[in-house]
Amino acid sequence: MHNPLSSGVPNSARGKVLVVGSIGIDCVKTPLGEANDVLGGAATYASVSASFFAPVLLVGVVGDDFPSAYLDLLASHGIDLQGLQRANGETFRWSGFYDYDLNQAHSLDTRLGVFASFHPTLPASYLDAEYVLLANIDPELQLEVLEQVRKPRLVACDTMNFWISGKRDALVDVLGKVDLAFMNDAEARQLTGTMSIVKAAREILRMGPSYVVIKKGEHGATLFSATDTFSVPAYPLEEVPDPTGAGDSFEGGVLGFIAYSGDISEHGLRKGVVYGSVMASFNVEEFSLRRMLRLSHSEIAARYREFKRLAFFEALEDAGDLEAL
Ligand code: AMP
Repeated sequence: MHNPLSSGVPNSARGKVLVVGSIGIDCVKTPLGEANDVLGGAATYASVSASFFAPVLLVGVVGDDFPSAYLDLLASHGIDLQGLQRANGETFRWSGFYDYDLNQAHSLDTRLGVFASFHPTLPASYLDAEYVLLANIDPELQLEVLEQVRKPRLVACDTMNFWISGKRDALVDVLGKVDLAFMNDAEARQLTGTMSIVKAAREILRMGPSYVVIKKGEHGATLFSATDTFSVPAYPLEEVPDPTGAGDSFEGGVLGFIAYSGDISEHGLRKGVVYGSVMASFNVEEFSLRRMLRLSHSEIAARYREFKRLAFFEALEDAGDLEAL
């Protein structure tokens, strides 16, 4: 895939992003509409998003009811599907709805289907992946993937309330083994029992990761490390038809960009978080993955510039009017 963000480095020479997580079929209702039996899953959103920046290796399972058109769609984005198993049984299914507070997904039904008995076996070609995204799924499966990869440069994870309450110990184990943890504000509060997002982030840092990104939906995201705090706004959209997958496409953008740039310093992560916000802002413009599937690199680059403008302000010495106060 030609990439105008590129400095001439072919996609094949970039770091690879291994993504594990749910791949499934969603039924979603929001105040602006609904979509039934559409392509969803955390790993799906994250993979498609990351594929705009770097090669993606997908790990997961689908049932024999999973439409082959959805597989074709992932393959058409250059996503490597050798690590995607097809099992007898039902594909993962999630149904949920959003009220006017789009930051809060209400799950109506979560059916793990073939994920309940899934154990990932990574193909040999996946073992040397440089970047690993443990997207939302059972933390025990996240651990199984981590046990197999050889020497990744950066490992990131995500989770949600379902696993924080259901598999807390395994999740804490995962957090002890990753470099970067993604969580939304409600999840960070639930995990740490702390109201303050800043205190919650510090507590999660103490559990292991060097970086924590707290996602706050329409209020943007904040990156925390021991020495740095960086906030990026959300893109001001007038309408958000479907926030599903915002977090996952955010993470795919962060990991994809880091794989593209190879920069795992604080500086590189800051840029990654902006690209993550860019990708999430496109994702929520339409239901399911519809917007992502017709997104272009030039649109990504243009929105990155808009983010720069959105968050830019003068240095104090250039502001000029302080003396006049
Ligand atoms: P997000 O909106 O970014 O939090 O993620 C939405 C996606 O997460 C949906 O497409 C669902 O299929 C998926 N999902 C919902 N519940 C779970 C769960 N318990 N484990 C893994 N994935 C889930």
